[in-house]
Amino acid sequence: MKRTAMIGHLTPAHAGQTVTLQGWVNRRRDLGGLIFLELRDRSGLVQVQVEPDSAAFADADRLRAEYVAEIEGTYHARPESQRKGGLADYEVIATRVKVLNTAKTTPFELEKGDSVAEDIRLKFRYLDLRRPEMQRNLVLRSKAVAAVTEYLNREGFVQVETPMLTKSTPEGARDFLVPSRQNPGEFYALPQSPQLFKQMLMIAAFDRYYQLARCFRDEDLRADRQPDFTQLDMEMSFVELDDVLSTQEGLMAHVFRETMGVDLPVPFPRMAYMDAMNLYGSDKPDLRFDLKFTDVTDLFQGGDFKAFAAAQAVKVIAAPELTRKQIDELERIAKQNGAGGLAWLKRDGDGFTGGISKFVTAQAAELIARTGIEQGGTLLFTAGEWKKAVGALGAVRLALRDLFDLAAAGPQFHVSWVTEFPQLEFDDDSGTWTYMHHPFTAPHPDDLDLFGTDRQGEIRAQAYDLVLNGFEVGGGSIRIHDPAVQAKMFQAIGFSAEQAREKFGFFMDALEYGTPPHGGIAWGFDRLIMVMSGATSIREVIAFPKNNRGVDLMALAPSPVEPGQLADVGLSVATSEN
Ligand code: ASP
Repeated sequence: MKRTAMIGHLTPAHAGQTVTLQGWVNRRRDLGGLIFLELRDRSGLVQVQVEPDSAAFADADRLRAEYVAEIEGTYHARPESQRKGGLADYEVIATRVKVLNTAKTTPFELEKGDSVAEDIRLKFRYLDLRRPEMQRNLVLRSKAVAAVTEYLNREGFVQVETPMLTKSTPEGARDFLVPSRQNPGEFYALPQSPQLFKQMLMIAAFDRYYQLARCFRDEDLRADRQPDFTQLDMEMSFVELDDVLSTQEGLMAHVFRETMGVDLPVPFPRMAYMDAMNLYGSDKPDLRFDLKFTDVTDLFQGGDFKAFAAAQAVKVIAAPELTRKQIDELERIAKQNGAGGLAWLKRDGDGFTGGISKFVTAQAAELIARTGIEQGGTLLFTAGEWKKAVGALGAVRLALRDLFDLAAAGPQFHVSWVTEFPQLEFDDDSGTWTYMHHPFTAPHPDDLDLFGTDRQGEIRAQAYDLVLNGFEVGGGSIRIHDPAVQAKMFQAIGFSAEQAREKFGFFMDALEYGTPPHGGIAWGFDRLIMVMSGATSIREVIAFPKNNRGVDLMALAPSPVEPGQLADVGLSVATSEN
């Protein structure tokens, strides 16, 4: 017998009809001689009643949780006294039950899924994925793919697949390497992104490209990172920055509308990197709430209060009234994020009490005027090297958000652009300049003369990040299309002509054959779906993710391989004594 409907597609109009449903037994209860089943499929859940004298009873009696069953019966409204409104008011009175398959007792109760240790959920992922929350996340993801594809196809983008076994693409992480059997001692790198290929597709006159691309980055994992992840990768020719941004705004608005019925206001607000850092202490500020920093460096410069007098930056945030315990916790967060400490003051009348109040009497009036701090409110300061001071206060700002649920007052989704990133960043560890986005990002044309000078750090990149609720969900740039500028860039990051040639010779060659002006972007697709779905980990929106040690607990990967397989690729595993 074929099923007549998915469970979630039943409507009150089905009342009185005979239906055949197929799915999993979510729960079984025996009550007053009756068997009550909950039958579940991807689309929903329905209660099934089996009466003791029905022909279905003997088969129904065999059913246990997670058995697969086919149930035929009449769909009808429950007795008036049991109705609460909605589809739960309807149930099926079974006339026939067929056990389609049995199931072992599951290692965890599916309904407890969220509270079950994640390692157990990941080991038995096929069971975890049966849970409605997980089904919902993956269906949302599938709908987002459909919306993206539809929009980009309509806008004239061509979908092209780029290779998985390739050469290193620099995106700032370690490569995953794959040994080549046919070329012993040589390795492919899995792509960190399709960056060079998509640029070559522009050189190859495809004009507009997109791909849902699997990318691989070997880096330490966090809740919003996986070693292999999906990017929505795009590139456009004959465009300037504004063209890329407005195309993206249309696309993002379309995706939210189609998948969630949410209307995002476009255009998205833009903020320069320096402003984002100075005002919010982050290059991906959560703008669902405000709580900006105030700069008070000048108030203390060269003064008596030693801790602030010589600081490159002194930033302050006006927080609500805080307890000592809360301040201590925020200080711990500030220190964890690079600050030496978190100084504080409590507004009391025309001045301040507590914390550093005895050092700031001269500045009190100005502090009140600049920050607008309310009576009883707490001022929180970080001071020191600029990047550390703003970064640490940025972390404090997010902790205040969580403490006072500040984001709840704003829109559910806030999307914005961060632009004008620095082109180059000084890496203290190696003592060299390095690229901030990647080495193919075009510098701002007005800043070209700064290459090779002591003001290199001020060169602005034509780069942009897409920020959603404090998460970086996309990033891209206008690219260098002039070989001379590309050479300048390589030189700035200390790549000799030979090194550049060895790593990207193919690309440097291609650049010389009529490269159109072009630019693009990639969305961190998993992260986007995570934020859209309200999940707190990227693993909740990936069907078969790895845990934060990079292990696939279900398939048990990574794993040792046969010695013969190693010999094939000319490798052996060095065993260390410790
Ligand atoms: N390849 C970049 C990245 O993966 C995105 C881009 O520049 O388009 O971050």
